[in-house]
Amino acid sequence: MAIERTLSIIKPDAVAKNVIGQIYTRFENAGLKIVAARMAQLSRAEAEGFYAVHAARPFFKDLVDFMVSGPVIIQVLEGENAIAKHRDLMGATDPKKAEKGTIRADFADSIDANAVHGSDAEETAKTEIAYFFPALNVYSR
Ligand code: UDP
Repeated sequence: MAIERTLSIIKPDAVAKNVIGQIYTRFENAGLKIVAARMAQLSRAEAEGFYAVHAARPFFKDLVDFMVSGPVIIQVLEGENAIAKHRDLMGATDPKKAEKGTIRADFADSIDANAVHGSDAEETAKTEIAYFFPALNVYSR
């Protein structure tokens, strides 16, 4: 299986709930290494740029409002099959539909405030990692 990298965000709701460590433990227990990480208060421009693919969707403004409502933790995860593995840990977009034991089932309240973001494919992962991390700040090991 390929070693991949994926972009992960712990969203403002989960940071506010003080579950950063619990979420990091899930990544580590699944064999994903944190190879870059930072806490950030996103500006509107940063959040809009990150979610530009959703700009025409009805939920776009609420999504941006939510993403700038408090600090987030942004990380790059590395490991075998990291993109799909991370998506499995996250669970479905709507926490009501997320499988038991997933991050969203356990920590998210609604489809808007759904605790985490994860890249959904190899190309998106590359773009999203480059968006938040200059290459020199990613520490592979
Ligand atoms: N979202 C929302 N309402 C919706 C659909 C999506 O607020 O009806 C938000 C939600 O925070 C989601 C993000 O937009 O995580 C991106 O949507 P996507 O379909 O890419 O879901 P994800 O990949 O995050 O599971």
